[in-house]
Amino acid sequence: MDPGGFSIYPSHYAALQKLWREKSLSVRVAFSLFAQNVGAEFEEYKNLTPFLPMGFGDDMLRFNGIGERITGGMYNNNAPDAAAKEKFLEIIRWAAKQGLTVTIHWQEDKSVHQLLELYETVSKETPIAPLRWSIAHLDNASPETLARMKALGLGWTMQDAMYLGGDRMATQAGEAARRMPPIVTALRAGLHVGAGTDAHRVASYNPFVALQWMLDGKTVGGLSTRGPDETPGREDALRLYTVGSAWFSFDEMRRGTLENGKLADFAILNQDFMSVPVEQIGATTSC
Ligand SMILES: [Zn+2]
Repeated sequence: MDPGGFSIYPSHYAALQKLWREKSLSVRVAFSLFAQNVGAEFEEYKNLTPFLPMGFGDDMLRFNGIGERITGGMYNNNAPDAAAKEKFLEIIRWAAKQGLTVTIHWQEDKSVHQLLELYETVSKETPIAPLRWSIAHLDNASPETLARMKALGLGWTMQDAMYLGGDRMATQAGEAARRMPPIVTALRAGLHVGAGTDAHRVASYNPFVALQWMLDGKTVGGLSTRGPDETPGREDALRLYTVGSAWFSFDEMRRGTLENGKLADFAILNQDFMSVPVEQIGATTSC
């Protein structure tokens, strides 16, 4: 799942498209459009999507909607003004009518109500639950926020940013870091949760590093930040990393588990994820 990023322009996808044309892609990619032009985001989306209906592509390369930045005014801004919200609302209203998935980067629970209010407004006009919209990050999501997301049918994509950044984040968050991110609470709330990495620029893309971190809650430096209350078991962690994430690209019937009728994607690993000591999981390789 590729939710775009700063300075990754449409032209940068040419290499990916070339590999797709040559049938040489070794990983399946579902990509989103990340608005690059602050101030002209809506024009950008309207210009780039006429030939990209939601889900366009195939099992190797597929268009998966817009995000993770929808507008500059609602990106890492805990106090968006009325104009910023109106502009965001205009775009998500359009996206819902187009049947597009929307994924959004949001960091802070204290301000996420500003986003959820807009989603609730749109959802009354066009139900968004079938479109599988999602919020990325939100490491300090409160149970109330998770319940509100569940009511809207929003999924939560959760990454191992704290593996590299957890020492700093724990200093800022104090005791609250023990429940960051609230993986178990989200599962208990019945939310769709996808596990990932936020790679490449923010973190390692290695899924086994992320799985180890999900299970021990420790940073790369060895600091224990997340407590046992928010630590999933091995099966749940693996489920989030596979079929849990597949939901976000409408792929859970095709990918994420090894079953009759599904794509036969698998890796042969050098050790058993289910039984190896947790601190060794990150060193797992495929052979
Ligand atoms: Zn982000």
